[in-house]
Amino acid sequence: EYRRIGLDSLLRDRGFTDGEIAAAPGSWAVVGDVILVAFGECERREAVGDALLDLHGEADTVLARHGISGETRQPDVEVVAGTGDTETVHHEHGTAYALDLSRVMFAPGNKAERAHMGEVVTPEETVLDMFAGVGYFTLPMARAGARVTAVEKNPEAFGYLSENAALNDVHDRVELLLGDCRDVVDARSGAANPRFDRVVMGYYDAYDYLDSALVSLAPGGIVHMHEATPEAELWDRPVGRLHEAAGAAGRTVDVVGRRRVKSHSEGVWHVVVDARVSGL
Ligand code: SAM
Repeated sequence: EYRRIGLDSLLRDRGFTDGEIAAAPGSWAVVGDVILVAFGECERREAVGDALLDLHGEADTVLARHGISGETRQPDVEVVAGTGDTETVHHEHGTAYALDLSRVMFAPGNKAERAHMGEVVTPEETVLDMFAGVGYFTLPMARAGARVTAVEKNPEAFGYLSENAALNDVHDRVELLLGDCRDVVDARSGAANPRFDRVVMGYYDAYDYLDSALVSLAPGGIVHMHEATPEAELWDRPVGRLHEAAGAAGRTVDVVGRRRVKSHSEGVWHVVVDARVSGL
């Protein structure tokens, strides 16, 4: 994510007034060769887009980002400058993510968390990624040697997940399943249910799926639960939800980590709580 680096003088050269410069976006992100911008109050979007293309020679399209909606996290974006090609390959910490930014989401602000997941896994451990998307966490974990079962409900994201497994040469370490993670866990319940060393829940409504996560975790396994949490409810709400779900499942949890990933919205944080789950 870039913050206003170099943009002001470019806009001044293009005849922007002080007021227009002040209204220009304060930050943007370069994902592959696409620049993602939340324009806010800025009215001269095309001209700002052209300036951003000059600033980032490797990029060829500028997208205005209006939001993300629905269970399968559909992005609402609009081409404001450049060629309009929204399909790209983004490289981050050695992982390649192919995706179309007009069809599937990518959160630039989750960069450190994506890297972190590749660092915490140990080779050959087994992981269930319940909300895999295009492979945000699955890919760095599999590249680090973990065996990952990745579930994704959105067929378009799933298509890129499959492509990315091949692109990163981890197809022999991942099992990719298109569908609802709850159905996948239910279909494998009972004695045959595989027990994972780690369960990743990279979804703001993850707490709704904690029952499925808990039946999938081996004793002593780790769950990573993401949440969008109001500042005043840090950390009681996510930690309370973990204890409540564990109690209902006859298990106990021990919080071993907690992180703010990024600001989600005014007064609300995207957080992750890591918990070790005992019992069963
Ligand atoms: N933390 C961000 C958020 O919650 O908006 C990123 C979410 S993204 C990694 C979540 C992914 O989970 C999306 O690709 C979405 O399609 C998928 N998803 C949502 N509900 C699902 C479910 N029940 N089973 C499997 N995948 C699901």
